[in-house]
Amino acid sequence: MLFASDLDRTLIYSKRFVTEMAHQEELTTVEQGVYTSYTTKKAAALLRLIAEQVLFIPCTTRVIEQYQRIQFFQNTVIPKYAIVSNGGNLIIDGVVDKNYQQAMLRELTHNSLPAADLISEFRKIATPNWVEKTKDADNLFYYCLIDRAQTPKDELQHFSQWAVKQNWHVSVQGRKLYLVPQAVNKWSGVKKLLEQTENNKVFAAGDSLLDLPLLQGADYAYSPRHGELYQQYQHQQNDISWQFTAATGIVAAEEILNKLQGLLE
Ligand SMILES: [Mg+2]
Repeated sequence: MLFASDLDRTLIYSKRFVTEMAHQEELTTVEQGVYTSYTTKKAAALLRLIAEQVLFIPCTTRVIEQYQRIQFFQNTVIPKYAIVSNGGNLIIDGVVDKNYQQAMLRELTHNSLPAADLISEFRKIATPNWVEKTKDADNLFYYCLIDRAQTPKDELQHFSQWAVKQNWHVSVQGRKLYLVPQAVNKWSGVKKLLEQTENNKVFAAGDSLLDLPLLQGADYAYSPRHGELYQQYQHQQNDISWQFTAATGIVAAEEILNKLQGLLE
């Protein structure tokens, strides 16, 4: 079994998402520095236990440097593999895998419209009243902070539909708008590791629209009862291939880990 999990708002939570926890002493800090993130002490203990039994693979949209800031995954639970940059990069034993990176860049060259062309089209609608500076993530995908209230919905929808035809995916999550080539997704990274390692089943977890390919590809999948996936799919629970947790907020991490531990017993 391979445990492929999103991190932020699935297993770990920034300060503004943990305010509902009345008992701060139940939390443990997993990242400290530029940002602070937490998980519950119970979730941390469960994850340690699980990582001894299955291949745990963090699958995050964080870029390489942002992933490496999470001390918990450097010192406490140390995954052999981590899929970062939303599937665009693979870290093996702490080192960015160059073969994976080159294969990904080759795939992008063949599959999607060049980034510069997509960005120049995006600039036509991205006026300063709703878009702050567009940033590139490890030269693989792009994101920008937006003002949702000022977003020109029709123009953005039109652009998104055009982008899909160029093999790019546009998604809005909270205050961030992502422009991601279709080849850059967490599931394609997991699929490559499934082939390379002797695993045949995948247990996945994630909360956002960028986790959708991962959840759909996995054999077992859970999504916390919060976030974009919950907002979008809460009324279609009979039609989707994954389940939502009963818990909302940071304790959803414990519930997901308990489900996986239950399967392993
Ligand atoms: Mg997330």
